[in-house]
Amino acid sequence: MKIETKVLHEGYKPKNGEPRVLPICQSTTFKYDSTEYVGQLFDLTAPGFFYTRLANPTVDAVEQKIASLEGGVGALCTSSGQAASFFAILNILECGDHFISSSYIYGGTVNLFAHTFKKFGIEVTFVDQDLPLEELQKYVKENTKAVFAETVANPALTVLDIEKFAKLAHDNDVPLLIDNTFPTPYFCRPIEFGADIVIHSTTKYMDGHALQVGGVIVDSGNFNWNNGKFPGLVEPDVTYHGISYVETFKEQAYIVKARVQLMRDLGSSPAPQNAFYLNTGLETLPVRMERHYSNALAVAKFLEAQDDVVKVNYPGLESSPYYELAQKYLPKGNCGVISFEVKGGRERAAALIDQLKLISLEVHVADIRTCILHPATSTHRQLNDEQLLECGITPGLVRLSCGIEHIDDILEDLTQAFAALG
Ligand SMILES: *Cc1c(COP(=O)(O)O)cnc(C)c1O
Repeated sequence: MKIETKVLHEGYKPKNGEPRVLPICQSTTFKYDSTEYVGQLFDLTAPGFFYTRLANPTVDAVEQKIASLEGGVGALCTSSGQAASFFAILNILECGDHFISSSYIYGGTVNLFAHTFKKFGIEVTFVDQDLPLEELQKYVKENTKAVFAETVANPALTVLDIEKFAKLAHDNDVPLLIDNTFPTPYFCRPIEFGADIVIHSTTKYMDGHALQVGGVIVDSGNFNWNNGKFPGLVEPDVTYHGISYVETFKEQAYIVKARVQLMRDLGSSPAPQNAFYLNTGLETLPVRMERHYSNALAVAKFLEAQDDVVKVNYPGLESSPYYELAQKYLPKGNCGVISFEVKGGRERAAALIDQLKLISLEVHVADIRTCILHPATSTHRQLNDEQLLECGITPGLVRLSCGIEHIDDILEDLTQAFAALG
């Protein structure tokens, strides 16, 4: 099946007389005929549902769909994108370990990696993802256990050379984790370029309608965990009668472990109702992404022609330093988000936003409605100017998320706002 068909037909597959639409199993609990069966569930020897924190039929259908869209062997939905990033790392790293992350990542992920993981004794080194492989290799340490980056960074709009990062990771026997939130699997499937684990904030385009906060982790099934660096996946787990994830679950070892250890102990499971909203959003992902992209490309070209705009960051523009990488990894399109720098910095960027009538000021991106945000005074306000620059953000930078309205209406609103700036 092509992805346009998968979004509609993967996951939930109704049998004779069953509902056409994915049912919402709003139940914490499930009923059984025998204690023997329940015992098998707890031993992880029988498949099935026993508690919605660990698995639920509605959530399960969405997980299967997303795994299929990304080309993975399994997926785990979480209650937010932040929980997905947290679990994805914590599933393989422990106190005393280190990982490498691109510095061009989402502000919330920067906080998680730099500050919260530090409290767990997990250390991160942020690197310039555009450095050549030999330079990046210098940041690898004895205890480095993972490499992390975003396909198209929020909000820097840089495009990652995924194959270079995969080589960096694999040369050092560690997995590559990719946050693929902005392109979605419609525009890029990082596993095809060597990523081992893919995560998403499903809050963004996957949902698309701003209905739910959610995240997902997808396991490619390709990484060999039995290389001496990941004892947690190989050695016996005393909490499940000494099973070894690699031995018992083979290529699904990583994603099963994330579910039965981390989701069991830390929670962060999505509500079935939210999984339903997410599933509905996914069904129209391809048609929405095409419109988001064509609108954003038109807006980016419009912005480039404005005297009041110093710079436009959009990998779809031929002037973008990431155009070549975008052509390679995202030939059909990349995302609907643009960032641009307003002449006059912080104050004029804010003034422009305040003039807009249709485009709304929101702490969100990837919605079907066009929205705008000023990172320096909102999502990234905890960073000083120097730290902002490291993330590819300047004080006058504006992040514009193009929705799926008619392009003429979006351009008209921008035109009147620039005119009002004077
Ligand atoms: C929003 C976002 C996150 C965090 O996801 P939440 O669902 O808000 O917790 C992580 N990565 C990227 C790229 C994001 O845009």
